[in-house]
Amino acid sequence: MADIIGNSKPQRSPRPSTAATGATPTASNSPYITVAVPAPVRQAFSYLDPKGEARRGARVRVPFRGKQAVGLVLSCGEAPAFDLSRIKPISGLVEGRASVPESFVSLCEWAANYYVHPIGEVVAAALPPLIRHGREPHIDSLTLALTQAGKGCQPSSLARSPAQGRLLQALRQSDLNKDALKQQAFTTQVVNSLVAKGYAEWRQQPQPQGFTLHDTRHPSLALTDEQRQAINAVGSQGTYLLQGITGSGKTEVYLRLVEATLKAGKQALVLVPEIGLTPQTVQRFQARFEVDIAVLHSGLTDRERALAWMQAQQGSAGLVLGTRSAIFTPLRYPGLIVIDEEHDTSFKQQEGFRYNARDLAVLRGSMESVPVILGSATPSLESLANAQQGRYQRLELTHRPASFQQENYQIMDTSHLPMKDGLSQALKQRIAATLDAGNQALLFINRRGYAPVLHCNSCGWIAGCRRCDARLTYHTSSEGLYCHHCGIKERRFNQCQECESSDLSPLGVGTQRVEEHLAQAFAGRRILRIDRDSTRKSGALNKMFQEVAEGGPAILVGTQLLAKGHHFPGVTLVALLDLDGAFYTADFRALERMGQLVLQVGGRAGRESRPGQVVIQTKFATHPLLKLLLGQGYSRFADEVLKERQQTGLPPYAFHALIRASSQDRQAAAQFLEALATADPSGRTQVLGPVPALMERKAGRHRLLLLLSAQKRSHLHGLLMQKVSQAEASKLSRKVRWAVDVDPYDIF
Ligand code: ADP
Ligand code: ZN
Ligand code: ZN
Repeated sequence: MADIIGNSKPQRSPRPSTAATGATPTASNSPYITVAVPAPVRQAFSYLDPKGEARRGARVRVPFRGKQAVGLVLSCGEAPAFDLSRIKPISGLVEGRASVPESFVSLCEWAANYYVHPIGEVVAAALPPLIRHGREPHIDSLTLALTQAGKGCQPSSLARSPAQGRLLQALRQSDLNKDALKQQAFTTQVVNSLVAKGYAEWRQQPQPQGFTLHDTRHPSLALTDEQRQAINAVGSQGTYLLQGITGSGKTEVYLRLVEATLKAGKQALVLVPEIGLTPQTVQRFQARFEVDIAVLHSGLTDRERALAWMQAQQGSAGLVLGTRSAIFTPLRYPGLIVIDEEHDTSFKQQEGFRYNARDLAVLRGSMESVPVILGSATPSLESLANAQQGRYQRLELTHRPASFQQENYQIMDTSHLPMKDGLSQALKQRIAATLDAGNQALLFINRRGYAPVLHCNSCGWIAGCRRCDARLTYHTSSEGLYCHHCGIKERRFNQCQECESSDLSPLGVGTQRVEEHLAQAFAGRRILRIDRDSTRKSGALNKMFQEVAEGGPAILVGTQLLAKGHHFPGVTLVALLDLDGAFYTADFRALERMGQLVLQVGGRAGRESRPGQVVIQTKFATHPLLKLLLGQGYSRFADEVLKERQQTGLPPYAFHALIRASSQDRQAAAQFLEALATADPSGRTQVLGPVPALMERKAGRHRLLLLLSAQKRSHLHGLLMQKVSQAEASKLSRKVRWAVDVDPYDIF
């Protein structure tokens, strides 16, 4: 990733601060502070702190635009350079139970600067809402303990109230907090009686100092040489790219590194793409370490999120496991950061504050002097380039442990094969043989619904969305047409909207259509469709995974959901039904993603002792990159794609940023960007556009972009800052929604 950029901020008068941020958290002599307030403004604001109590990281209540807001103090002590009489005093400090550490503030400042995003919004995205507002949940630290009198009391003297006698006995074993009392079914009345008799009393427990690693449960396996080498190579800091084929034991490497970290009294932060999809990963950590683990993901309530954050920040959780946004969780005793499946696009936030958790992890590792492990079977080209350039140290696992077999890949050229609902006859025979042998087959198709389009056979009309430049997807289950981009639903058309013909038919293949075909072709067999439609109900996904794990012949049909980190030991046949889009899209990352997808989906097959077969149906059977991928492996494939990127001057050999604009008024969005599109006089950066986004209209808004590109990160950043201040001053900025996307993943 990125080199670090200086903390230069555009200046803006009169009220936003001009004082430098990044000051040390010393007590202030002068009563002026700068505060990050949640607002779409790329500056901090100056306030007066009359009592001089605020510190960097403190939460303060401030008057802001006629209302009260809670902000985070960035710096203290420097008087701003403008009219001091206009600076308002803060309303007060937020008295919270948690404290926001300096390292968190630094990370937010760096991210705000790097992604050119308003600091207040960065803080708002990074800090759980209850913490931000100082409404931390109360961690009950009261415990019930025996008094001297209680210790001397004979239980027999309580014979008339056996429950009190039992409580007395229980307290002889250990003090009990409210939860434990409840668990052991001691009522409030019983407790109160014992307290009233002077036998027991409530005591405040001191804050725990760090976590306790009670136990580590070791599996009885000997590390492979490669695993041992990888583990030994990890030092006390630096970034390591752990490239290990699927099933090579990367997770075992993480587990050992975490173990060493915990034993040294330090905390580990482990990020995974999506916890709901990879429950096995979380379970493996939980099964290995008897230590408090804080789990952070999008399904938590505000209270749960705040509690997990506090456990991490106070150091009582040894391990913090989370998805993307967990990268901002402070650690009291930082020791290790692991990013599992580092190539996964879910580490990139695609709206609002657009950041990449993987890149922030690398930065955070260097700020906090801890090692960062980026692990994947199919690393992103960015990370591979960083390894080639010596910024990351590469560690490789090229073999699976002895008892695990490698899957076989086979291309099935479909250019001359008759296909029915996305399936060739040859593939169906393979599926039949797999089921007959008592095994499971997994079919991957990256499109949910029945068919991607509804087509008029007379005039060629295709049903489209009224609000987006997108085709409607036909779903049989509800006889409706859905737009997967804006969510709108239309009833099925009986007639063509152009020529009124009623000769309409679905074209193309989605999961529902494959499922329907299989239900006929393999009547009586278990068929499970796993996509966002079939797993909408909470728990549905886990239920299906369990059903699959129970074994027995079955066919799984699914989307991307199946490609993520989940092991299917009963699956011996994997088929990718249609990859061909990757070979003709305008998205230059499509080939990289195709390579990652093939090996990730393929790696789900035959992970125990049963060898797996992977079949790829494609019309591009002779494509050199596909052959390279399957013949020589991901590294050689990636080298080749990297060479192409270098020749064409694309990332990771150039740096990109987008300014995205959207409006109901196309003209306004276009004018807004045109005003910014002036060329860079120094010629060090290119400005491209405005160009329409790949999907130009979405949910009724017209979307355009301006692409900035440079060989050097600092040049790009300089230009971007300039364009952004220009954009902020634009009169059109009221009619146009606009956003900055640094290191964008797609141009949709
Ligand atoms: P990855 O994360 O690279 O896909 P895993 O860590 O999940 O791979 O390992 C795949 C399987 O191999 C797991 O069942 C794991 O317990 C097992 N395993 C890992 N390391 C070893 C080893 N050294 N010897 C035997 N089995 C191992
Ligand atoms: Zn028609
Ligand atoms: Zn739509």
